[in-house]
Amino acid sequence: MDFRSDTVTKPTDLMRQVMAEAIVGDDVYGDDPTVNDLEQWSAKRHGFEAALFTTSGTQANLLALMAHCERGDEYLCGQQAHNYKYEAGGAAVLGSIQPQPIENNPDGTLDLAKLQAAVKPDDSHFARTKLLSLENTINGKVLPLSYLAQARQFVDKNGLALHLDGARVYNAAVALEVDIKEIAQHFDSMTICLSKGLSAPIGSLLLGNHEFIAKARRLRKIVGGGMRQAGILAAAGKIALTEQIEQLKQDHQNAKSLAYALNDIDGFDVNTKYVQTNIVFAKVSPSIDLEHLANQLKADNIIISPSNPLRFVTHKDIDHSDIETLVTKLKAFTTAL
Ligand SMILES: *Cc1c(COP(=O)(O)O)cnc(C)c1O
Repeated sequence: MDFRSDTVTKPTDLMRQVMAEAIVGDDVYGDDPTVNDLEQWSAKRHGFEAALFTTSGTQANLLALMAHCERGDEYLCGQQAHNYKYEAGGAAVLGSIQPQPIENNPDGTLDLAKLQAAVKPDDSHFARTKLLSLENTINGKVLPLSYLAQARQFVDKNGLALHLDGARVYNAAVALEVDIKEIAQHFDSMTICLSKGLSAPIGSLLLGNHEFIAKARRLRKIVGGGMRQAGILAAAGKIALTEQIEQLKQDHQNAKSLAYALNDIDGFDVNTKYVQTNIVFAKVSPSIDLEHLANQLKADNIIISPSNPLRFVTHKDIDHSDIETLVTKLKAFTTAL
């Protein structure tokens, strides 16, 4: 039982089957029918003109930032944004693009007045503000649809583009019980990770208009992301987007029941208001030695990352009985203190 992330999900039997049978070609020549199908189908499905299959979510975000911004431009984002905090500064390293982070509100949104104040005037002292990048879900929290509409108005008013790091955007759509297009419609570009809760082994998608995706395709080649018989992976990606969405509902229910159970254990405190999808953050009392806890759990084949707050991620390879087992072990650990 691996609670560290939904990236640990193994491909489904159906994925392995379609991977074995996938018709492939050299995708750098544009010759892989399975990649072409995934790109064309997913563009249409999400309401964009075009799509690009990438090696990872990090690569998809990097290509998006570099396709929207030139050297000396900047993008607005959250302090907690994955493409600011957790992608090794790629946009700055490889694109000479400056991030302008804004503190995230507790619900994950970015204050539009603060964003407005951060937009630079056209003046030779300043970087050129080109883009607002949002993330949904962010730390498991869902951005409200009304906020997305306001963010769209904000970028239109300021002549910026709007990007969504949608690594877990399907978790947001499932939680809101809306079609994915309800979210996607507000954005000029969007990424989707196929390899998290959706359980494909490898791969993400970048979506946008024809011109943007053509630019991103060239950039993908620059960073060594041109893959050859990638249809083997794309085949699993299509299953992720067709067969695995339903599973997310169960993951969300499991996260909720874990959150409530944790609140019944001494030393664990979860703000259940923010357990909206498949991620649970628990504040842990200093009386609990997290390294020791992680080692104890490991002996029972339960894997967690010892950090405070302690993050638990639910996914298809964790079922409800696994949640019960974890809770029982945690109770035993804390009562023994
Ligand atoms: C995981 C994640 C990414 C990066 O995806 P990788 O495929 O791990 O590179 C980007 N953004 C968010 C919000 C993520 O959770």
